[in-house]
Amino acid sequence: MNCPYCGHQDSRVIDSRDVNDGIRRRRQCLKCGARFTTYERLQPASLFVTKKDERREEFNQDKLLAGIRKACEKRPLPTGAVDKLADDIEAELYHIGKTEIASTVIGDMVMKRLKSLDHIAYIRFASVYRDFTDITTLKHEIDTLLSDETEISHPTAQLPLLPVEELEKVSKRKQR
Ligand SMILES: [Zn+2]
Repeated sequence: MNCPYCGHQDSRVIDSRDVNDGIRRRRQCLKCGARFTTYERLQPASLFVTKKDERREEFNQDKLLAGIRKACEKRPLPTGAVDKLADDIEAELYHIGKTEIASTVIGDMVMKRLKSLDHIAYIRFASVYRDFTDITTLKHEIDTLLSDETEISHPTAQLPLLPVEELEKVSKRKQR
């Protein structure tokens, strides 16, 4: 596996773990020191993304990563958070086991993760992905975020007697 940054052939494995149907290896280039991730799988089926206009293109991890990076630009995120997010999504996509996946499914997966990672990045990504055309849609999205926040902060303000999952069920029930 050549280094994606400098093309050097040798890398060392710094972390290796089983993910779903394969092995994920975190590698470090022996020449430039860059870190990258490889997946080893029994059947590396190619994955195609179908767009809204029904065009198909091969799934491109770099493109996904670039989109997430752009949304997270200058946000105070822990080192490696963006790469991990993209890696997780890729692993999940392959785990679904389909050869074709709608771009909207991927977009939703990114949104879901960004929402819990960083609200500004989430809004940035959403404004591109959901194609906010006016300030009203943007305001609606922000209002949703804010109301989610009050919901989450409420149960933790008192000592929870139930596990978080249970609390969420209870608060969802109350809303109905
Ligand atoms: Zn390198």
